[in-house]
Amino acid sequence: MVWPKKIHISEVGPRDGLQIEKTILSVAQKASIINHLVLAGAEEIEIGSFVNLKAVPQMADTEKVFAAIDKKDNITYRVLVFNLQGIKRAAAAGVKFVQLAHSASISHSIKNLNKTPSQMIQELPVILDYATAHDIVLSGAISTAFGCAIEGKVDIEQVFKIISSFYSLGVLDISLSDTSGMAVPRQVYEYCLKVKERFPAIRLGLHFHNTRGTGLANVIAGMQAGVDRFDSSIAGLGGCPFAPGASGNVATEDLVHMSQEMNIETGFDLPLLISIGKEIQKIVGHDTESFLIKAGMPYAANP
Ligand code: ZN
Repeated sequence: MVWPKKIHISEVGPRDGLQIEKTILSVAQKASIINHLVLAGAEEIEIGSFVNLKAVPQMADTEKVFAAIDKKDNITYRVLVFNLQGIKRAAAAGVKFVQLAHSASISHSIKNLNKTPSQMIQELPVILDYATAHDIVLSGAISTAFGCAIEGKVDIEQVFKIISSFYSLGVLDISLSDTSGMAVPRQVYEYCLKVKERFPAIRLGLHFHNTRGTGLANVIAGMQAGVDRFDSSIAGLGGCPFAPGASGNVATEDLVHMSQEMNIETGFDLPLLISIGKEIQKIVGHDTESFLIKAGMPYAANP
């Protein structure tokens, strides 16, 4: 087993985390959290989404958040979209990195995106043309790739079909999302190997929710299969409004701690992450699923 020397962490808390919180943060609060996460080492950060305002009011002000953040060079400020309308909002706001989410489960796709996976695939060329014409770098995300809370098991062929449509159009940054927290390590390992074998040029990322406590174990299984790109969420915030029982992402500070103790670089300042996580818990008004915030640093005075 060769461990990665470095992993690339995309911080998704400002989007995947805050989209499910009852407390809607102000633009200034969101911008401050994003700026602090960049100071703590985030090089790629999902700052919000351009989706249905009524369904996800927490993300209604993403244009304003993007305008308000203190933008730094070499940082990827990414936004999540589901369709052409979303990418048009990204272009209008000047956002240059967009992740387009498809869902592998038919039920989740209809509930979340109002379209079947096949209908989503049909729209992809038009969306990609629009992105290219507006200098937007598009990446793909596949929700419910490992299982669906509504539908149960999701056939890997369904995942392959979506990857194939992205891949054939030249979208090589693709992440598999365990939206409902149903993935287990052996499945992750086997899926990743199969995906890499079938799509050799893919830059595969993984996005785990820790709903059933398998989040970090799944990260290790991904590393074993040669994956070095992972999403995580500050303080373990997160969930999907359309996936029953979904809970937080793997906490960024937990992932950073585990990786650093394994001599795998992350580029993050762990004590700073923990203090940002604690501040966010105060803002949202409740505890979140973060081991490091509860337990503190292992070898130093707790921050
Ligand atoms: Zn998620």
